[in-house]
Amino acid sequence: MSSILYFDNAASTKVDPRVLEEMLPYFTETYANPSALHTPAQRAKAAIEESRETIAELLGANDPSEIIFTSGATEGNNTVINIFREGTILISAIEHPSVLNTALETGRCKLIPVDSTGKIDDEVFSRLLEETKPSLVSVMLVNNEIGTIQNIDRLGELTRKAGAYFHTDLTQAVGKMELNLAERPVDYATLSGHKFHAPKGIGALYVRSSAPFTHFMVGGTHENGRRAGTLNAPGIVGLGKAARLVMEEYPKERERFASMKRRIVKAILEKVPDSRLNGSLDESAPHIISISFYRTEGESIIINLDTKGICVTAGAACSSGLQKRSHVLTAIGLPEEWLRGTVRLSLGRFNTEEEAEILIQSLIESVEEVRSLGYVAQ
Ligand code: PMP
Repeated sequence: MSSILYFDNAASTKVDPRVLEEMLPYFTETYANPSALHTPAQRAKAAIEESRETIAELLGANDPSEIIFTSGATEGNNTVINIFREGTILISAIEHPSVLNTALETGRCKLIPVDSTGKIDDEVFSRLLEETKPSLVSVMLVNNEIGTIQNIDRLGELTRKAGAYFHTDLTQAVGKMELNLAERPVDYATLSGHKFHAPKGIGALYVRSSAPFTHFMVGGTHENGRRAGTLNAPGIVGLGKAARLVMEEYPKERERFASMKRRIVKAILEKVPDSRLNGSLDESAPHIISISFYRTEGESIIINLDTKGICVTAGAACSSGLQKRSHVLTAIGLPEEWLRGTVRLSLGRFNTEEEAEILIQSLIESVEEVRSLGYVAQ
């Protein structure tokens, strides 16, 4: 496995060995159900509460009680939308399916259009607020396919003035930017551990103490009745450790990603004819690169790179598996002959400069090889 070059970190990341080490005792030693009264259970419970404090610190929340542990961002996003049983739910057209499909299923959802870089225009948004008078607005801070960063301060402020609540999906933002939720007009926020080197199946939901809440998972009284289900102590401990590492390493890591991203984008756009970057280079997350190759089959590039031991994806992992047209690339108005040739490269803690150089050379070769077989007609 050591020869694999992994550039699909927006889909999932490697568990940091320091996170795994912290988790291990909670599988084999402190494995008691944290809700029980005996000493091992109380030990697990204490570790969970310490983790809650760390997540509150990572998010810049006012109080650890504003954090609820979940199985990941899908659950967090479903939970928030489920609170709003009446009124319009206004979401951006480029939300992750866990927001998009959940909101659409209510039959009360309206989409906020985005421009060609994926950004929401303030005036368009204000008009939609007036027209739809929503109860909830949900706009992700960082888009998972093209990395666009939204101005959630401005959007949240406008939302609150319109008397609605504001949710933001932070899944791709953790470790890439400042969060400071207490200071921002945000009522709900979601995150997922496996995007920042914690394991899959653990996440957190931030609910501002002044915001309404209704539980989604029904059962026992765990999490003060807000989320039923035995607490995933090893996962929560891992999430806390991953959050601590992010807080320690993120200023340096962000710079490293940003410079690696600039280098990759510059080289590809210069050396591969008929290539373009999706989203903007300056106003986007430092770890996500979406590049399209004109009239070239993206899936073929991905398979070609895979034969060279390099992992990338077409768009979001969930849509690429189904070979579905990306709703994000459609929303930014990317023409079909570019859309089909889209490849997403995403950076993580363990990518090195040497790997980036191999990625650049291999991608140039792969596009040439795929194109030498003939350009796709449409
Ligand atoms: N939101 C965004 C922006 C994501 O990128 C993802 C993961 N692809 C999710 C939500 C879903 O997260 P999870 O895998 O934890 O359910």
